Amino acid sequence: MLRCVTRFAPSPTGYLHLGHAHSALDGWRRARAGGGRFLLRLEDIDPGRCRREYAVGIEEDLRWLGLDWDGPVRVQSEHLAEYRAALDSLAARGLLYPCFCTRQEIARDIAASLSAPHGPDGPLYPGTCRGLSEPERARRIATGEAHALRLDIARAVACVPAGLSFHEEGEGRVACQPQRFGDVVLARKDAPASYHLCVTHDDALQGVTLVTRGADLKPATDLHRLLQVLMDWPEPAYAHHPLLLDASGRRLAKRDRAATLRDLRASGVSPAEARAMAGFG
Ligand code: GLU
Repeated sequence: MLRCVTRFAPSPTGYLHLGHAHSALDGWRRARAGGGRFLLRLEDIDPGRCRREYAVGIEEDLRWLGLDWDGPVRVQSEHLAEYRAALDSLAARGLLYPCFCTRQEIARDIAASLSAPHGPDGPLYPGTCRGLSEPERARRIATGEAHALRLDIARAVACVPAGLSFHEEGEGRVACQPQRFGDVVLARKDAPASYHLCVTHDDALQGVTLVTRGADLKPATDLHRLLQVLMDWPEPAYAHHPLLLDASGRRLAKRDRAATLRDLRASGVSPAEARAMAGFG
Protein backbone atom coordinates (compact mmCIF):
# COMPACT_ATOMS: atom_id res chain seq x y z
CA MET A 1 0.00 0.00 0.00
CA LEU A 2 1.19 3.50 -0.81
CA ARG A 3 2.27 5.20 2.41
CA CYS A 4 0.62 8.53 2.87
CA VAL A 5 2.59 11.77 2.90
CA THR A 6 0.88 14.70 4.61
CA ARG A 7 2.06 18.17 5.48
CA PHE A 8 1.33 21.21 7.59
CA ALA A 9 2.04 24.42 5.71
CA PRO A 10 1.50 27.51 7.88
CA SER A 11 2.43 31.07 6.90
CA PRO A 12 4.57 32.72 9.59
CA THR A 13 2.37 35.81 9.81
CA GLY A 14 1.44 35.23 13.45
CA TYR A 15 1.62 32.64 16.23
CA LEU A 16 -0.26 29.37 15.85
CA HIS A 17 -3.72 29.11 17.38
CA LEU A 18 -5.91 26.11 18.15
CA GLY A 19 -7.21 26.02 14.57
CA HIS A 20 -3.67 25.54 13.29
CA ALA A 21 -3.09 22.93 15.98
CA HIS A 22 -6.14 21.05 14.69
CA SER A 23 -4.80 21.12 11.11
CA ALA A 24 -1.32 20.06 12.15
CA LEU A 25 -2.58 17.23 14.38
CA ASP A 26 -4.91 16.01 11.63
CA GLY A 27 -2.05 15.67 9.13
CA TRP A 28 0.39 14.28 11.70
CA ARG A 29 -1.99 11.62 13.01
CA ARG A 30 -2.89 10.39 9.54
CA ALA A 31 0.76 10.09 8.55
CA ARG A 32 1.85 8.42 11.79
CA ALA A 33 -1.11 6.00 11.79
CA GLY A 34 -0.09 4.48 8.48
CA GLY A 35 3.70 4.60 8.77
CA GLY A 36 3.70 7.54 6.38
CA ARG A 37 5.56 10.83 6.39
CA PHE A 38 4.58 14.18 7.89
CA LEU A 39 6.25 17.30 6.49
CA LEU A 40 6.46 20.87 7.76
CA ARG A 41 6.61 23.72 5.27
CA LEU A 42 6.76 27.44 5.99
CA GLU A 43 4.86 29.41 3.36
CA ASP A 44 6.72 32.66 3.81
CA ILE A 45 6.76 34.24 0.35
CA ASP A 46 4.96 37.39 1.50
CA PRO A 47 7.85 39.58 2.71
CA GLY A 48 5.51 42.23 4.11
CA ARG A 49 3.64 39.93 6.50
CA CYS A 50 6.01 37.08 7.40
CA ARG A 51 8.33 37.40 10.37
CA ARG A 52 11.27 35.30 11.51
CA GLU A 53 10.06 35.29 15.13
CA TYR A 54 6.80 33.68 14.03
CA ALA A 55 8.67 31.04 12.00
CA VAL A 56 10.76 30.15 15.07
CA GLY A 57 7.63 30.23 17.24
CA ILE A 58 5.77 27.82 14.93
CA GLU A 59 8.41 25.13 15.31
CA GLU A 60 8.59 25.65 19.07
CA ASP A 61 4.82 25.47 19.47
CA LEU A 62 4.50 22.32 17.35
CA ARG A 63 7.22 20.58 19.36
CA TRP A 64 5.50 21.62 22.58
CA LEU A 65 2.27 20.13 21.25
CA GLY A 66 4.14 16.85 20.80
CA LEU A 67 4.53 16.83 17.03
CA ASP A 68 7.59 15.84 15.03
CA TRP A 69 8.16 15.98 11.30
CA ASP A 70 10.25 14.17 8.72
CA GLY A 71 13.21 15.75 7.02
CA PRO A 72 14.15 19.43 7.04
CA VAL A 73 11.51 22.14 7.12
CA ARG A 74 10.95 23.52 3.64
CA VAL A 75 11.11 27.31 3.71
CA GLN A 76 9.52 28.71 0.55
CA SER A 77 11.49 31.96 0.46
CA GLU A 78 14.65 29.87 -0.05
CA HIS A 79 13.31 28.39 -3.30
CA LEU A 80 12.23 31.36 -5.37
CA ALA A 81 14.14 30.19 -8.46
CA GLU A 82 11.99 27.03 -8.54
CA TYR A 83 8.76 29.04 -8.57
CA ARG A 84 10.27 31.30 -11.26
CA ALA A 85 10.91 28.24 -13.44
CA ALA A 86 7.26 27.17 -13.10
CA LEU A 87 6.13 30.69 -14.01
CA ASP A 88 8.47 30.68 -17.02
CA SER A 89 6.93 27.43 -18.21
CA LEU A 90 3.41 28.89 -18.06
CA ALA A 91 4.58 32.14 -19.69
CA ALA A 92 6.22 30.25 -22.54
CA ARG A 93 2.79 28.81 -23.37
CA GLY A 94 1.16 32.25 -23.39
CA LEU A 95 -0.80 31.54 -20.20
CA LEU A 96 0.50 34.49 -18.15
CA TYR A 97 0.36 38.20 -18.76
CA PRO A 98 1.85 41.18 -16.91
CA CYS A 99 -0.66 43.28 -14.99
CA PHE A 100 0.37 46.84 -14.16
CA CYS A 101 -2.86 47.85 -12.41
CA THR A 102 -2.81 49.32 -8.94
CA ARG A 103 -5.42 48.24 -6.39
CA GLN A 104 -7.15 51.58 -6.86
CA GLU A 105 -7.32 51.15 -10.64
CA ILE A 106 -8.79 47.69 -10.26
CA ALA A 107 -11.39 48.98 -7.77
CA ARG A 108 -12.25 51.84 -10.12
CA ASP A 109 -12.64 49.54 -13.16
CA ILE A 110 -14.80 47.16 -11.14
CA ALA A 111 -16.99 50.04 -9.93
CA ALA A 112 -17.34 51.32 -13.50
CA SER A 113 -18.33 47.99 -15.02
CA LEU A 114 -21.99 47.12 -15.39
CA SER A 115 -21.61 43.55 -14.22
CA ALA A 116 -18.79 42.88 -11.77
CA PRO A 117 -18.65 39.11 -11.34
CA HIS A 118 -17.54 37.78 -7.95
CA GLY A 119 -15.39 34.72 -7.28
CA PRO A 120 -14.60 32.89 -4.04
CA ASP A 121 -12.04 35.59 -3.12
CA GLY A 122 -14.12 38.65 -4.05
CA PRO A 123 -14.75 40.63 -7.24
CA LEU A 124 -12.93 39.25 -10.28
CA TYR A 125 -10.14 41.15 -11.98
CA PRO A 126 -11.83 42.97 -14.88
CA GLY A 127 -9.10 42.02 -17.36
CA THR A 128 -7.77 45.54 -17.92
CA CYS A 129 -4.22 44.44 -18.84
CA ARG A 130 -5.17 41.22 -20.66
CA GLY A 131 -5.54 42.98 -23.99
CA LEU A 132 -2.33 45.04 -23.94
CA SER A 133 -0.18 44.54 -27.02
CA GLU A 134 3.20 42.85 -26.77
CA PRO A 135 5.11 46.06 -27.62
CA GLU A 136 3.15 47.94 -24.94
CA ARG A 137 3.92 45.24 -22.36
CA ALA A 138 7.60 45.20 -23.31
CA ARG A 139 7.80 49.00 -23.17
CA ARG A 140 6.25 49.24 -19.74
CA ILE A 141 8.38 46.42 -18.34
CA ALA A 142 11.50 48.04 -19.80
CA THR A 143 10.68 51.30 -17.99
CA GLY A 144 10.66 49.36 -14.74
CA GLU A 145 6.92 49.66 -14.11
CA ALA A 146 5.93 47.27 -11.31
CA HIS A 147 3.75 44.40 -12.48
CA ALA A 148 2.14 41.23 -11.27
CA LEU A 149 1.75 38.10 -13.43
CA ARG A 150 -1.79 36.89 -13.94
CA LEU A 151 -3.00 33.57 -15.27
CA ASP A 152 -5.17 33.94 -18.36
CA ILE A 153 -7.83 31.66 -16.93
CA ALA A 154 -9.82 31.18 -20.16
CA ARG A 155 -6.72 30.08 -22.06
CA ALA A 156 -5.54 27.93 -19.19
CA VAL A 157 -8.87 26.11 -18.89
CA ALA A 158 -8.89 25.58 -22.65
CA CYS A 159 -5.55 23.75 -22.34
CA VAL A 160 -6.83 21.01 -20.00
CA PRO A 161 -9.33 18.23 -20.67
CA ALA A 162 -12.94 18.98 -19.70
CA GLY A 163 -14.26 17.49 -16.46
CA LEU A 164 -11.48 18.62 -14.12
CA SER A 165 -12.09 17.27 -10.60
CA PHE A 166 -10.37 16.35 -7.34
CA HIS A 167 -10.86 13.59 -4.79
CA GLU A 168 -12.25 14.80 -1.47
CA GLU A 169 -12.28 12.32 1.40
CA GLY A 170 -15.83 11.30 2.22
CA GLU A 171 -17.24 12.91 -0.92
CA GLY A 172 -15.49 11.29 -3.86
CA ARG A 173 -14.81 13.30 -7.02
CA VAL A 174 -15.65 17.00 -6.75
CA ALA A 175 -16.03 18.94 -10.00
CA CYS A 176 -13.72 21.95 -10.41
CA GLN A 177 -14.63 25.34 -11.82
CA PRO A 178 -11.38 27.28 -11.79
CA GLN A 179 -12.92 29.99 -14.00
CA ARG A 180 -14.69 31.23 -10.86
CA PHE A 181 -11.40 32.81 -9.77
CA GLY A 182 -10.89 34.86 -12.92
CA ASP A 183 -7.35 35.82 -13.94
CA VAL A 184 -5.63 35.09 -10.62
CA VAL A 185 -2.27 36.55 -9.68
CA LEU A 186 0.49 33.93 -9.76
CA ALA A 187 3.35 36.37 -9.06
CA ARG A 188 2.69 39.52 -7.10
CA LYS A 189 4.22 42.94 -7.59
CA ASP A 190 5.87 42.74 -4.19
CA ALA A 191 6.50 38.98 -4.02
CA PRO A 192 7.97 36.81 -6.75
CA ALA A 193 5.27 34.14 -6.53
CA SER A 194 1.89 33.59 -4.92
CA TYR A 195 0.25 31.08 -2.61
CA HIS A 196 -1.57 29.13 -5.34
CA LEU A 197 1.56 28.53 -7.38
CA CYS A 198 3.89 27.74 -4.48
CA VAL A 199 1.51 25.42 -2.67
CA THR A 200 0.86 23.27 -5.73
CA HIS A 201 4.52 23.31 -6.75
CA ASP A 202 5.66 22.19 -3.32
CA ASP A 203 2.99 19.56 -2.75
CA ALA A 204 4.15 17.98 -6.03
CA LEU A 205 7.85 18.36 -5.35
CA GLN A 206 7.57 16.96 -1.83
CA GLY A 207 5.48 14.00 -2.89
CA VAL A 208 2.46 14.94 -0.75
CA THR A 209 -0.24 12.32 -1.33
CA LEU A 210 -2.94 13.71 1.00
CA VAL A 211 -3.51 17.44 1.51
CA THR A 212 -5.15 18.06 4.90
CA ARG A 213 -6.19 21.65 5.57
CA GLY A 214 -9.10 23.85 6.61
CA ALA A 215 -12.34 23.97 4.65
CA ASP A 216 -11.70 27.67 3.91
CA LEU A 217 -9.16 26.50 1.31
CA LYS A 218 -11.43 23.96 -0.36
CA PRO A 219 -12.59 26.36 -3.13
CA ALA A 220 -8.94 27.09 -4.01
CA THR A 221 -8.47 23.41 -4.82
CA ASP A 222 -10.19 24.04 -8.17
CA LEU A 223 -7.33 26.30 -9.10
CA HIS A 224 -4.73 23.97 -7.67
CA ARG A 225 -6.01 21.08 -9.81
CA LEU A 226 -5.83 23.31 -12.88
CA LEU A 227 -2.19 24.17 -12.12
CA GLN A 228 -1.38 20.50 -11.46
CA VAL A 229 -2.71 19.47 -14.86
CA LEU A 230 -1.06 22.40 -16.67
CA MET A 231 2.28 21.60 -15.04
CA ASP A 232 1.94 17.82 -15.27
CA TRP A 233 2.28 17.54 -11.48
CA PRO A 234 0.82 14.51 -9.67
CA GLU A 235 -2.62 14.73 -8.10
CA PRO A 236 -2.87 14.38 -4.32
CA ALA A 237 -6.11 13.49 -2.51
CA TYR A 238 -7.72 16.12 -0.27
CA ALA A 239 -9.28 16.06 3.18
CA HIS A 240 -10.57 19.52 4.16
CA HIS A 241 -11.63 19.75 7.79
CA PRO A 242 -14.25 22.07 9.28
CA LEU A 243 -12.76 25.19 10.87
CA LEU A 244 -12.56 25.42 14.65
CA LEU A 245 -14.88 28.07 16.06
CA ASP A 246 -14.57 30.18 19.20
CA ALA A 247 -17.19 30.26 21.97
CA SER A 248 -19.26 32.80 20.03
CA GLY A 249 -19.23 30.72 16.85
CA ARG A 250 -16.65 32.80 14.95
CA ARG A 251 -13.72 31.14 13.24
CA LEU A 252 -10.43 31.46 15.09
CA ALA A 253 -7.97 33.95 13.68
CA LYS A 254 -4.41 34.94 14.45
CA ARG A 255 -5.76 38.07 16.13
CA ASP A 256 -7.48 35.96 18.83
CA ARG A 257 -4.58 36.03 21.25
CA ALA A 258 -6.30 33.94 23.88
CA ALA A 259 -6.35 30.94 21.55
CA THR A 260 -2.65 31.00 20.59
CA LEU A 261 -0.66 27.99 21.71
CA ARG A 262 1.88 30.34 23.33
CA ASP A 263 -0.72 32.02 25.50
CA LEU A 264 -2.30 28.72 26.45
CA ARG A 265 1.10 27.39 27.45
CA ALA A 266 1.85 30.57 29.43
CA SER A 267 -1.44 30.20 31.28
CA GLY A 268 -0.50 26.69 32.40
CA VAL A 269 -2.36 24.56 29.84
CA SER A 270 -0.56 21.23 29.21
CA PRO A 271 0.16 19.88 25.71
CA ALA A 272 -2.39 17.10 26.27
CA GLU A 273 -5.04 19.66 27.25
CA ALA A 274 -4.19 21.79 24.19
CA ARG A 275 -4.50 18.74 21.93
CA ALA A 276 -7.91 18.04 23.45
CA MET A 277 -8.96 21.69 22.95
CA ALA A 278 -7.90 21.33 19.31
CA GLY A 279 -10.20 18.33 18.93
CA PHE A 280 -7.65 15.55 19.31
CA GLY A 281 -7.96 14.44 22.91
N1 GLU B 1 -0.16 28.60 4.02
C1 GLU B 1 -1.57 28.47 4.03
C2 GLU B 1 -2.14 29.12 5.26
O1 GLU B 1 -1.44 29.30 6.25
C3 GLU B 1 -2.05 27.02 4.02
C4 GLU B 1 -1.74 26.33 2.78
C5 GLU B 1 -2.36 24.94 2.61
O2 GLU B 1 -2.49 24.19 3.58
O3 GLU B 1 -2.65 24.62 1.48
O4 GLU B 1 -3.30 29.46 5.25
